[in-house]
Amino acid sequence: MTAETDARIARLLHHRKAGLSLGEPVVPPISVATTFHLPQAQGAAHYYGRSGQPTWDAVEAQLSILEAAETVTFPSGMAAITAALVCSLKAGAKVMIPSDGYYVTRLLGRDLLQVYGVDVVQVPTLEMETADFTGFQVIYIETPSNPGLDTVDIAVLARRAHAAGALLIADNTTMTPFLQRPLDLGADLVVAADTKAPAGHSDALFGHVAGRDANLMARIREWRRQSGSVPGPFEAYLVHRGLETLEVRLERMCASAAVIAARLAAHPAVKNLRYPGLPGDASYGAVGGQMANGGFLIGLTLADAEVAEAFLARCPMIEQATSFGGTHSAGERRARWGDSVPEGFIRLSVGIEPVEVLWSSIAAALADLQA
Ligand SMILES: *Cc1c(COP(=O)(O)O)cnc(C)c1O
Repeated sequence: MTAETDARIARLLHHRKAGLSLGEPVVPPISVATTFHLPQAQGAAHYYGRSGQPTWDAVEAQLSILEAAETVTFPSGMAAITAALVCSLKAGAKVMIPSDGYYVTRLLGRDLLQVYGVDVVQVPTLEMETADFTGFQVIYIETPSNPGLDTVDIAVLARRAHAAGALLIADNTTMTPFLQRPLDLGADLVVAADTKAPAGHSDALFGHVAGRDANLMARIREWRRQSGSVPGPFEAYLVHRGLETLEVRLERMCASAAVIAARLAAHPAVKNLRYPGLPGDASYGAVGGQMANGGFLIGLTLADAEVAEAFLARCPMIEQATSFGGTHSAGERRARWGDSVPEGFIRLSVGIEPVEVLWSSIAAALADLQA
């Protein structure tokens, strides 16, 4: 972590203090009000719950400190992605999206954007650095990609997108703003599923869009009001609480992932191992540059579907569930959702269990397979 990141963490933890009067609660209230005292129409901080409310304000203040940008929150990562794309495209426009990124983003391209007259072009993450951007209004990236963990150089893509007159939107879910800040590297918008590591306890769906263009962010805020794509106050509270411990959780998760990835890479049962923090990994070049470290996700390929399922079933420290970034380590075979990965590919999300307990359980499950 850099000194600048440290300063952001400290500000995040104390962001409410300056606004508190004597006797007010230290943590933000879960404000459930749909309507606000309004004897006159002008000058109130809030007037109707779909337009804005105090618990959103609290979590948006935290995220704005982390992103160093204006932030608008949404009820899920997909709601944030929809807002960013709808507000930067119109009928007749062209958008490039990764063919190997989060699969629901591709479905959104096919079933919403395409239907409304946007030309959606899919390109593998690794080919985006050299793809021709002529005629595109938006280049949309995911780095490292979920689940393949391939990376693109964000600064290079931002320069190339801008030269072609396009905006660059980056899905930063796999890294979080603690580990990677695409806006600092030239991206126009960041989108993220705070459902994952930021909320961190597998109990809240949430998302956000951040950006430094005031006009574009105003359109995104207005989209939330008009579409009604509004986060719940309880979820906003949970994400506010999660963000306070995100950096500490990430430290454990990423350190454990580095240890476990190195040991898995050397294991005879493992056919292929992807972890950006491993020297020799195709994404290693991005680590220490745009990525603070290798993250907490590992792509692990075992012999085939049957072996991968048997491993997951025998490993008590890996929750067999979709999603990632939670306190519990979790893993699943991604081919079961149709991702274009080998049948034996497991996306492993390393949690906060003590690393040697986690490793013992993984090693025992792998040994069982060979017995
Ligand atoms: C999970 C995920 C999303 C969607 O987030 P939801 O909160 O589930 O809507 C988007 N992008 C990536 C990379 C994800 O992993």
